[in-house]
Amino acid sequence: MTEDDVDRTCSRAGCRASANWRIDWRNPKIHGPERRKTWVACDEHVDYLRSFLAARDFPLDVSTLEVVP
Ligand SMILES: [Zn+2]
Repeated sequence: MTEDDVDRTCSRAGCRASANWRIDWRNPKIHGPERRKTWVACDEHVDYLRSFLAARDFPLDVSTLEVVP
């Protein structure tokens, strides 16, 4: 999977900003170790989404979403 497969609009409900961050996460209760979900976030919402997942003890990785020229 390449970066181009990711929707670049912020995953926060109602936000249409373009994303600069990606959050790869999973729910251990419904996802096996190989399953990953990806959210993307704008600068404003990356902390909100990360906190949302962290509060549920979901494993997550936050990384920058590279912009393809
Ligand atoms: Zn946003």
